[in-house]
Amino acid sequence: MAESESTTSSAPFSFDDSPIARELADLTSRRKALEGVRVELTGPARVITVSNQKGGVGKTTSTVNVAAALASLGARVLVIDLDPQGNASTALGVPHTADIPSIYDVLIDEFPLTDIVQTSPESDLLLCAPSTIHLAGAEIELVSQVAREHRLRTALEEYLASAENPPHFVLIDCPPSLGLLTINAFTAADELMIPIQCEYYALEGLSQLLGSVRMIQKHLNPRLHLSTILLTMYDGRTRLAQQVADEVRTHFPAEVLRTVIPRSVRVSEAPSFGQTVIAYDGGSAGAVAYREAAVEIARRGEGSREQLTEPTTEEAPTEDTSSEEGES
Ligand code: ATP
Ligand code: MG
Repeated sequence: MAESESTTSSAPFSFDDSPIARELADLTSRRKALEGVRVELTGPARVITVSNQKGGVGKTTSTVNVAAALASLGARVLVIDLDPQGNASTALGVPHTADIPSIYDVLIDEFPLTDIVQTSPESDLLLCAPSTIHLAGAEIELVSQVAREHRLRTALEEYLASAENPPHFVLIDCPPSLGLLTINAFTAADELMIPIQCEYYALEGLSQLLGSVRMIQKHLNPRLHLSTILLTMYDGRTRLAQQVADEVRTHFPAEVLRTVIPRSVRVSEAPSFGQTVIAYDGGSAGAVAYREAAVEIARRGEGSREQLTEPTTEEAPTEDTSSEEGES
């Protein structure tokens, strides 16, 4: 401050004008805007598969955090962990050791889904069909099964028809492949959400993914459509992240959410506590972004594209709130 005070000819340094202060102010107003938000929860369950055959792009992180954020809005949400890694089950604090009945038993031994669904300790509204290590063999075991592409869909339809309180949302976390597990998810879902990491190579493989979706639409599930693209791990300090975000928006203007998920230490820490970032640090930049994304997703289902907040400025939605400074 001493330096700026002595520099009388140029504008004095003010903390209020610094990027960190602006980010904090922005985060505070976004938190406030979320406080009063309500979403309409009517109609049948929306079944959304979260897929991208590229590994490590934020599928699981987005599945569990969007699910928890939807639950915080009052929605009942079922997460189906369809990845043998079981990361979604871990993040939701749900036991998934080899002896636990799991989605493997549903797919291979035709257990009813209701027999394996657990409630996350995080919220009574947040349910999880866990995955165990057994699922690693399911890709191969499924090959010889009758109706091998429809097994999840059949189980889910029975569950939704018989559940006393059916979920408003079903989110399916897919493994990083386009094998039979992912095909089961595509056959069971109405909507596809693709998380895209704001890094080089982000769009590579996307045409293959969309080609698979077209095949599924044609042969197995005409209802499946790409409804949502979520930009993840956005680092506003790099020009590359901005370029990737711009490119994806140019190709998919209607599907990309306004909300962008920043790269955030809190987001990556949360699973080691068996929590989503919504429970772990609900006011952090990553949690706020996931809560905003959840509102957008819920409102798109209402057929409305209205904005979450009434922005006071014309600034880019959330893309400049991406560094860690905003996290308290
Ligand atoms: P896989 O293909 O192996 O299933 P995935 O697509 O599900 O991976 P995640 O497991 O969600 O990807 O994320 C990959 C890694 O990146 C994890 O360590 C996760 O904690 C981290 N990560 C995800 N999103 C963020 C974020 N917004 N900020 C920081 N780290 C993140
Ligand atoms: Mg994953």
